[in-house]
Amino acid sequence: MKVVTTIDDLRAQVSAWKKEGLTVGLCPTMGYLHEGHASLMEHSVKDNDRTVASVFVNPIQFGPTEDLATYPRDFDHDCALLESKGVDLVFHPEASEMYADDFCTYVDIDVLSKTLCGKTRPIHFRGVCTVITKLLNTVCPDRIYFGQKDAQQLAIIRRMVRDLNFNVEVIGCPIVREADGLAKSSRNTYLSPEERKAALILSRSIRLGQDLVTGGERDSAALLKAMKDKLASEPLADVEYVEVVNGLNMQPIPTFTEGDLVAMAVRIGTTRLIDNFTVGEPSIEFED
Ligand code: AMP
Repeated sequence: MKVVTTIDDLRAQVSAWKKEGLTVGLCPTMGYLHEGHASLMEHSVKDNDRTVASVFVNPIQFGPTEDLATYPRDFDHDCALLESKGVDLVFHPEASEMYADDFCTYVDIDVLSKTLCGKTRPIHFRGVCTVITKLLNTVCPDRIYFGQKDAQQLAIIRRMVRDLNFNVEVIGCPIVREADGLAKSSRNTYLSPEERKAALILSRSIRLGQDLVTGGERDSAALLKAMKDKLASEPLADVEYVEVVNGLNMQPIPTFTEGDLVAMAVRIGTTRLIDNFTVGEPSIEFED
């Protein structure tokens, strides 16, 4: 496995592969990797001749009061995991390699970025779309991999790829959870033992929602009331949002159908966690 830190070296290695007629998969990450990230690598290694992973904490997707400075980092551990998954090339740039001092060109997306996480993170998806555009323009992969864990991000990237005619297939990978149901996240490391227990309220309310949907519920207000009541039973949980949105445009809907999204952001102490399910997918399973 090779590690490169510059755009030129990344481009050169991928161009050499392309000249040989090899297909390339790209898995963008911010590092501090876990099995959720690893599942993206597994899909890419299976689908493509070569896999590139990026490990880059992208400063322009963090708001001024967010956790850019404290975001967990462990590049040696990340490399060991990526190598074990069969990744061929790791791109690990400094922020200055990605953003010149006078950088001023952004890719923004309307409509889909205004709901859910976009309400409290107004510049977040502009930062995501911009960095993904830069990676796509450099690697020109055949396929790019994202987790369903960040469902709004995945919907936004699908729309950006369609709207801007990127020649890439966007692959969404299922949420990977801990045995007790908590969705794996680099930010779980912020949780104290007490908060870690309290954080189970997210997956429990997700499963409650899924059970109601399986039972035939299709009314958003009724579903959300039940899920919010469940979340309210945990004193450490501070709900930012729970919403039912159209699976393609991320707009709230009064009734829902297969493919629509039920998504939440909840603070446990100071840690902001997200989780979701897509209507029609199998219910999550975990140890009670
Ligand atoms: P991040 O490093 O948080 O930017 O995540 C990089 C990619 O990994 C994104 O596409 C995430 O959606 C995906 N990812 C993170 N956690 C999980 C998880 N628990 N299950 C599936 N994919 C995940």
